[in-house]
Amino acid sequence: MADARSEMLTGWSRTAPSAATVVSVSSDTEVDDLLAHAGERGIIARGLGRSYGDAAQNAGGTVLDGLSLADVIDVDVARDTVRVAAGISFDTLMRFVVPLGFFVPVTPGTRLVTVGGALAADVHGKNHHVDGSLANHVEAFTLHTPKGVVTVTPDSDPELFWGTAGAMGLTGVVTEVVLRLLPVETSLLRTRNERCHDLDTVMARMLDDDADYRYSVAWIDCLASGTSLGRSILSRGDHAQRDELPPKHRAKPLHFDPQARIGAPPWAPNGLLNRASIAIFNELWYRVSPRLHGGGFETISSFFHPLDGVREWNRLYGSRGFLQYQYVVPDDAHAAVRRSVEMLSHARAASFLAVLKRFGAQNPGPLSFPAPGWTLALDIPATVPGLAQLLDDLDELVADVGGRVYLAKDSRLRPELLPVMYPDLPRFAELRARVDPAGVLQSDLRRRLGLP
Ligand SMILES: Cc1cc2nc3c(=O)[nH]c(=O)nc-3n(C[C@H](O)[C@H](O)[C@H](O)COP(=O)(O)OP(=O)(O)OC[C@H]3O[C@@H](n4cnc5c(N)ncnc54)[C@H](O)[C@@H]3O)c2cc1C
Repeated sequence: MADARSEMLTGWSRTAPSAATVVSVSSDTEVDDLLAHAGERGIIARGLGRSYGDAAQNAGGTVLDGLSLADVIDVDVARDTVRVAAGISFDTLMRFVVPLGFFVPVTPGTRLVTVGGALAADVHGKNHHVDGSLANHVEAFTLHTPKGVVTVTPDSDPELFWGTAGAMGLTGVVTEVVLRLLPVETSLLRTRNERCHDLDTVMARMLDDDADYRYSVAWIDCLASGTSLGRSILSRGDHAQRDELPPKHRAKPLHFDPQARIGAPPWAPNGLLNRASIAIFNELWYRVSPRLHGGGFETISSFFHPLDGVREWNRLYGSRGFLQYQYVVPDDAHAAVRRSVEMLSHARAASFLAVLKRFGAQNPGPLSFPAPGWTLALDIPATVPGLAQLLDDLDELVADVGGRVYLAKDSRLRPELLPVMYPDLPRFAELRARVDPAGVLQSDLRRRLGLP
C-alpha cells in the first residue's frame, strides 16, 4: 500500500509553495493504481525537487514520489549501457559506474537529481556542444501513461520518445531508463581556466576553440560594467587519461567518493546574498580563480558539481528565495547576449551564478530546451528591486531573436510567450491528446503556462 501524506512543496528556488498529497510508491503497480485513480486535480511525478520552479508541484492534487524506485538494475559493460530505475540519483549512479570506468553521458551542475527528473527536463551539461542533451544518450525508457505502460525507444515511437524529453512529466511517469554511458580511464578532468577581460573576448574564445574540449563553460561577472562588461572565467576540460595522471592519483585512477563539505544553516537572514556580498565574491573569484587553476587536474565533483559541496545551499538566499533564469538564443544573436548582460549590469542585478555556454545541435523534442547557440543561466535573489520587469524585458529580447527560456528553471514566464518560444507546441498538444486525453497529468507549471 503506497504511503500518502499532505505536504507543502516548492522547487529549489523556494518560491511559490503549494500543498499536495504526496504519495511514495515502491512498485510499478502502485504507479498504475495512482494514475487510474487520480482525482480531479490530477497527478505529477517528482524526483529530488531540483527543478527551480513549480514543475514538480501540483496544488490540491497528487504528487508521486518515486524515490523508492532507485536501483541499478543491470550494467552491460560490453555495450556501455546501464539499466536503472528512474528514481535513482545521478550521485548513486556515479558512485556505481565511475569505479567501473564509466561516466554519465551528460550531467547537470548537481548530482542530486534523479534520472527520471533529468530525462523529463532533457538536461544538458557543459558538453552540449559536443554530445547533445540527455535524451540523445537514452536507448529506451518505460513510461506509465494514463492509457497504459509502454517501453519507448527512438524507433518504436519517435513522437513519444522525443516528446517525453523536456515534457516535465506531462507524458507520464518514467520508471526505468536504459542509458548509454561514456567509458573513462580515470575519474579526473584535465582542465584549463582562463580569465577573459570582457564579453567579446570570452565569446570569441568560445567560438574559436570550444570544439577542442568536451566540456566548456564561462562564469560571467554580471556586475562588471563599462569596458569590463562581461568579464569572465572560461573553464574547459576533458576526461584525463590514465598515463597523464599525476603520480599520487595513479594507484586509484577511478576513485570517486565525493562528500558535502559543509551544510548551509537551516535559517539564513534575508539579504545575506545581496549586491554587496555577491560583488565581493565576484571580485575575489575573478582575481583568484585562474591563478589557482590555470591548468591542471580536477575531480568530478569540483569540476561539475561544486555547489553539491554545500548541502542545501539554496537556504542562503533566505526565506524569500531566489529566481533562476536561463535562456538560449541562436548563434547569430550575439548582440542579444551583449544586450542581456548590459541589462543585468545596468539593473545592478547581482547574480551569484551566471554561466554562459554554447549549445550544439537540437534534438527533435518539441519541449526540449537546448537549441544551437548561446545559453546564459543566472540566479538572482527574489528581492532585487524591479526584478519582475527586468526578467519580462529579457523574455521579450529572447523571444524576439527566436530564443527560449528553460522550463525546468522557470517560475514566472508570461504564458503568451510560450508558443513563441516553443513553436512545436502543437506537436506536443497532439501527443498529449494521445497519451493523456482526460488530462490526468497535471502540475502547477502546466496550469500556470497553459501547457497542453
Ligand atoms: C544546482 C543546480 C544545478 C543545475 N544545473 C543544471 C544544468 O547544468 N543543466 C540542466 O539541464 N539542468 C540543471 N539543473 C536543473 C535540474 O537538472 C533539473 O531541474 C532536473 O529536472 C531536476 O531533477 P529532479 O530529479 O530533482 O526532478 P524534479 O525537480 O523533482 O522534477 C523535475 C521534472 O521532472 C518530472 N519528473 C521527475 N521524476 C519523473 C519521473 N520518474 N517520470 C516522469 N517525470 C518525472 C517532474 O514532474 C518535473 O516536471 C540544475 C539544478 C540545480 C539545483
